Amino acid sequence: MIQPAPRIQIVKKRSKNFQEVSLGYSKKITMEEARRCPQCSEPACREACPLGIDIPGFIRLLREGDALKALEKIQLDSYFAGVCGRICHAPCEASCILFKESAAVGIKQLERFASDHGRKKLSLFKKPHQAGKKIAVIGSGPSGLTAAAFLLKMGYQVTVFESFIYPGGVLFYGVPEFRLPNSVVNQDIASIKDLGADIRLATQFGKNVTLEELKQQDYRAVLLAMGSGGAYFFNIPGAHFGGVYFAEEILIEVNVYTHALIKRILGKKLGQHIAVLGAGQAALDCARVCVRLGKTVSIVHHGTEDEIGLLPDEREFAKEEGVRFEVLANPLEIMGNNDGFVSGLKCVRMDYADPDGKGDWALIPVPDSEFILDVDTIIIAAGHKVNEAVSLLFPKIKKTKRGLLKVDEKSQATSLPEIFAAGDLVEAHKYAVEAMASGKKAALALDGYLKNKV
Ligand SMILES: Cc1cc2nc3c(=O)[nH]c(=O)nc-3n(C[C@H](O)[C@H](O)[C@H](O)COP(=O)(O)OP(=O)(O)OC[C@H]3O[C@@H](n4cnc5c(N)ncnc54)[C@H](O)[C@@H]3O)c2cc1C
Ligand code: SF4
Repeated sequence: MIQPAPRIQIVKKRSKNFQEVSLGYSKKITMEEARRCPQCSEPACREACPLGIDIPGFIRLLREGDALKALEKIQLDSYFAGVCGRICHAPCEASCILFKESAAVGIKQLERFASDHGRKKLSLFKKPHQAGKKIAVIGSGPSGLTAAAFLLKMGYQVTVFESFIYPGGVLFYGVPEFRLPNSVVNQDIASIKDLGADIRLATQFGKNVTLEELKQQDYRAVLLAMGSGGAYFFNIPGAHFGGVYFAEEILIEVNVYTHALIKRILGKKLGQHIAVLGAGQAALDCARVCVRLGKTVSIVHHGTEDEIGLLPDEREFAKEEGVRFEVLANPLEIMGNNDGFVSGLKCVRMDYADPDGKGDWALIPVPDSEFILDVDTIIIAAGHKVNEAVSLLFPKIKKTKRGLLKVDEKSQATSLPEIFAAGDLVEAHKYAVEAMASGKKAALALDGYLKNKV
């Protein structure tokens, strides 16, 4: 027995378009898969889900053919069923009791089905009565919006301040549409708006609205959920040449342009032969964008293939689409021509070695193994720094040794009064569902704090 795979757009088609690759389960497979759930009385899957979704509960409702009720059940614990049904790393499935004996239930795909099919009738949702204290949430990524949703449900008045022109944080402007359509992000956010969220876009905290102003307007607490900071600069000679880009600028353009404009503008801007430096999800996403623009593209990574990206199936999709993995190759220098544009990438082969014979195996350069990749464009996808903006806004706020915001583990309170924090700002979460869980935890902690305050 293997877990049924979702329907997928065929490679020949999908490597030329920006539409969603995975099409989810059919109704028939959904029903069969829902019936496979053993309905454990102490479900390990629920324990493993960072949001604590009642997985057997929503699957039982799906089995009864009620996608709306299944979605409502999920929304008791998560407002991002459409998002998580697509990009979650699904730790729940690794804990399913069927995982070891045959194949885990396809929980993530069932969640997606509940969201895609239940949402059609979701306008029946009742807006909670909001007379409670005012709370400001800074940042509309998964952590900020999850916190906002749970605070709204508890009756608080919540305003979310977002500097970008669209809500959703990285879910909107980072993850490309062929993995997570922005219409799906917007649908999930619509449920949070239905709860009464006032989301103020293009409003940067510190510039368009200040802490002083929030206090004057009687906001009783502020939750900082501004995500991680700017991109790491890959310290490599030649990074000043024309034709060197950061992953973020490529991904933002991909997410705000129409599909036709992406092809016209990005297709022209990028050269024909591209090297992406890095191994994270942003590197994999950029490489798959380039393939769709008809480019040849290699991900250059000093380590091994299994370190690339977050989700193994996405890695396989990328390979099928034509992304090349130049692994065990360390970039040494970006080479340029007389016009100041990229003309190649000098790399050295890497291999595991134990030079002292002490068992300290490490990746080291292979002698005399330098080679040049014939590329005219480089995309740097080396991860993110910690968010420095917070230190500028709050010079006295305490940080951890790694530069993240220091918060009390239970209350999510920062070292400053009435200021709380959640998401990637507090912990370098690898996965969106962890950032959501951090937002949910902050909302419950804030409720406890405000209830005890006169
Ligand atoms: C390219 C890419 C692909 C990814 N793919 C996956 C995946 O497939 N699966 C997965 O689980 N995780 C994935 N992740 C990780 C996941 O997206 C993050 O962990 C998550 O988005 C963090 O959520 P957050 O709310 O803390 O921050 P963010 O999503 O970064 O949101 C922070 C928000 O705060 C706003 N903001 C910042 N400063 C201010 C200010 N001063 N005033 C007002 N607003 C402000 C920002 O504009 C942003 O909207 C990916 C990440 C990247 C970069
Ligand atoms: S949010 Fe992720 S971990 Fe939780 S049930 Fe959905 S797929 Fe599983």
